[in-house]
Amino acid sequence: MCGIVGAVAEWEVVAILLEGLRRLEYRGYDSDGLATLLPEQDCVQRRRALGKVAELEHTIKADPIHGHIGIAHTRWATHGVPSERNAHPHTSGNQLAVVHNGIIENYEALREELRASGYVFSSETDTEVIVHLIEKEWQQCKDLLIAVQRAVLRLEGAYALGVIHA
Ligand code: GLU
Repeated sequence: MCGIVGAVAEWEVVAILLEGLRRLEYRGYDSDGLATLLPEQDCVQRRRALGKVAELEHTIKADPIHGHIGIAHTRWATHGVPSERNAHPHTSGNQLAVVHNGIIENYEALREELRASGYVFSSETDTEVIVHLIEKEWQQCKDLLIAVQRAVLRLEGAYALGVIHA
């Protein structure tokens, strides 16, 4: 079963996110990742890994990431093989990132609709429709909460979400 961690602070949250992921390890997972934002930045940063949280830490040590806001995820694959490409967070553009626990049952229809609107998919997951749907709504209203509220009206299935936007 997957897990979601979120953190907001006046200091660096990467260590908090990694500690949160370590505490969720007992639930079982196949891959992991996190995305962060710094106050002065206009894009999200993301690191993902196949395998254990220790792999993700190794990736981050080699290529550090910083942020005062962040979301993190341990994935138990349901749609798409366990891989770095399918690991969460998923992004749309460079300002929006989403982590998801659950299954989106109508993802195939939504994916076709979003592809027709020009969105390019980079994973095999059901989750990726969520981030593009939110992005599409955000383009209309420029308000993250409203965009999420509108996007979830289109989702059928089970979902807990973590969402950040620059
Ligand atoms: N269905 C999503 C995926 O396969 C989320 C799985 C989970 O809850 O970890 O990526």
